Amino acid sequence: MHLNLDPRGMPPDGLHLEGKLPIAVFDLNKDDNIKTNSPLNYCLDVQKDDDEFIVTGSISSTFDLECGRCAERFLLHLEIADYNQEIPIENEQPIDLTTTLREDIILALPTYPRCEMGNISPRKCPAEGMFDQLQEQSSDELHKDVDGKVWGALDQLNNLKRN
Ligand SMILES: [Zn+2]
Repeated sequence: MHLNLDPRGMPPDGLHLEGKLPIAVFDLNKDDNIKTNSPLNYCLDVQKDDDEFIVTGSISSTFDLECGRCAERFLLHLEIADYNQEIPIENEQPIDLTTTLREDIILALPTYPRCEMGNISPRKCPAEGMFDQLQEQSSDELHKDVDGKVWGALDQLNNLKRN
């Protein structure tokens, strides 16, 4: 299903478009990190200017993303509530709005997804702060080790003196 805008068939008052585009419009690869099981919802007003369509309104969908920190997946409901796009019209040719909507919502996805961004079932990233903790632990152990050696050496010195 495609949302085609025909410059010649455009009512002077513009158009109101509301509905859902099927998941298939996302055309995501099976091995893509981004997955979705939700249609692309749209609620838009379209006006025709001299040589462009002005599209305003909101678009939304839910995506299944992989956290870049712990590699677990989480759901993000993404809504562009102030969607605003100008699409140039060339030679009065119809325009496939589907492609534009798809690209714009994919572009709005976070570049570095993190568990904390999930807004369907929020959770703390299990890997959050793990790296810091590891660092702290190892430096503590290092201190203990050095201390142990120092005391050990002192003990040996004392033993030597006593003998
Ligand atoms: Zn995570």
